[in-house]
Amino acid sequence: AQAIELLDVTLAYPGRDRPALEAVSVTIEAGKITAIMGPSGAGKSSLADIIIGLITPDAGQLLVDGKPVSGADRQGWMRTIAYMPQEIFLFPGTIRENLFWARPGADEASLVLALRQASADFVLDLPEGLDTQIGQAGAGLSGGERQRIALARALLQQPVLLILDEATSALDAANSARILEAVAALRGSTTVVLIGHTPAAAVIADQVLVMLEGRLAAAGPWAQVSDQL
Ligand code: ADP
Ligand code: ADP
Repeated sequence: AQAIELLDVTLAYPGRDRPALEAVSVTIEAGKITAIMGPSGAGKSSLADIIIGLITPDAGQLLVDGKPVSGADRQGWMRTIAYMPQEIFLFPGTIRENLFWARPGADEASLVLALRQASADFVLDLPEGLDTQIGQAGAGLSGGERQRIALARALLQQPVLLILDEATSALDAANSARILEAVAALRGSTTVVLIGHTPAAAVIADQVLVMLEGRLAAAGPWAQVSDQL
């Protein structure tokens, strides 16, 4: 896994009097879970967009393993990232089609095996008899099941960075807890960034970055920084 650093990053959207991000420097340690917390408009999404290479900051740098990511490197960097948005996102089609997207060219037996492995390793708790249901439409599953499939799909990508943007906000407490339990099990193997989740997500993070009005207000374990919010 690779460390991600932002150095003195500044970003202003046209027509806004205040920059969305002002001189933000953060280190996202490899194999750790980092949560980015802060009120709406604090700059969380902008920060995430810079981390994944979607936006180039006006000033400052994105470094992965000490090397600047810019220009053509951004495509390579983005290829190593798995992203889970707030809206539960499966491609239209069957569970099988969704999983093959993450492992193009895999044969079905190895895919089911990888899925069972992921399910066991990461407490995914996939629907009973998934291997027989794999031809079923993703749309036929419950929200919690669909988000677990989306997480399984993300893990089959073997990402360097897994980024979850309020990815539990559409789920009830029980399903949200199952996703977070799976994410916690990734500690040590995958770098995870949780954006704007609930305190329940922040407590599983090794490091919480608190954003306020475009600035990094605090960084540390949730117990130490929660009073900043
Ligand atoms: P959230 O806080 O739920 O992540 P967003 O990131 O979508 O919400 O939006 C945060 C703020 O950014 C909102 O105040 C919204 O009005 C503003 N915003 C988002 N996209 C645009 C845009 N394309 N143009 C202008 N303002 C925007
Ligand atoms: P958060 O994710 O914490 O809600 P954002 O990064 O979405 O924060 O927004 C930070 C600031 O930038 C806000 O003031 C927001 O209104 C503004 N903003 C976000 N996206 C856009 C955009 N596309 N165009 C103009 N302003 C934006």
